[in-house]
Amino acid sequence: MAPGRAAGGKEKLNVMKNEIINYSLLDIEPDRVAIFETQGIGPGVKPSARVIKLYYSAVELFMKLAEPIGIIHEISIPEFARVYEGEGLNEADTPLQHIFEQASHLALFGATIGLQVSEKIAQLLEDGDLSMGYMLDSAASFCADKAAAAAEQFFLESLLQEGRAGDSTVVLNYSPGYCGWHISGQGKLFQYLKPQTIGITLNKSYLMMPIKSVSGVLVAGERKIHAFKNNYPFCKECGTKTCRERIKSLSVAVTKKN
Ligand code: SF4
Repeated sequence: MAPGRAAGGKEKLNVMKNEIINYSLLDIEPDRVAIFETQGIGPGVKPSARVIKLYYSAVELFMKLAEPIGIIHEISIPEFARVYEGEGLNEADTPLQHIFEQASHLALFGATIGLQVSEKIAQLLEDGDLSMGYMLDSAASFCADKAAAAAEQFFLESLLQEGRAGDSTVVLNYSPGYCGWHISGQGKLFQYLKPQTIGITLNKSYLMMPIKSVSGVLVAGERKIHAFKNNYPFCKECGTKTCRERIKSLSVAVTKKN
């Protein structure tokens, strides 16, 4: 076992406990092409001037209201196995259960874009400004995902700085509600992580408040541990197949490096 390794080990040097991530707005900056793509407007399609104007108004509003913050808490493999079990409602077999067992380090994380953005979206929709409400909602969802990606980077950089990771280490996030990890897993995750300290709470349906929040586990390890075939029974119902893009991006990173 590598020195200082936290996951599954007895040594717990420099482990991150309740580490707060103070994001800058640059960390979660909206991206026009990517946000339009989430709305079904591909890179080859030119949006109308009205839609482009709407986009920039929504981004201006977003940048004014966003209060991004996150929290990271390292956890051992046995501890995470208890979090992952949740209420016992996970699918019988899932990618994550094989991935986390091979991790070098694990950390629970939560991040939010803040209450003001979520409240503004709700207000716009309530007032009937559906176009702006929808555009702000798209931007906020995209930026919440960016906050999760920035948490991956934050964790990786910390591990690298402490000599607990190497060039081949990759960190990816996995969340309850996806790929066989039942949404009720949020309950145990919240018990361990306590993201209430940064203003994220959970309702009885396991929905996070503010709505534009993300949570899950950051899994650090060799690239190969994150690769899997998407032939689980629940994959037949999956409309996005986002795992394929993530796995593809890992091999691109390897190719570029070589
Ligand atoms: S195909 Fe969909 S459900 Fe299956 S692992 Fe990939 S993202 Fe998850």
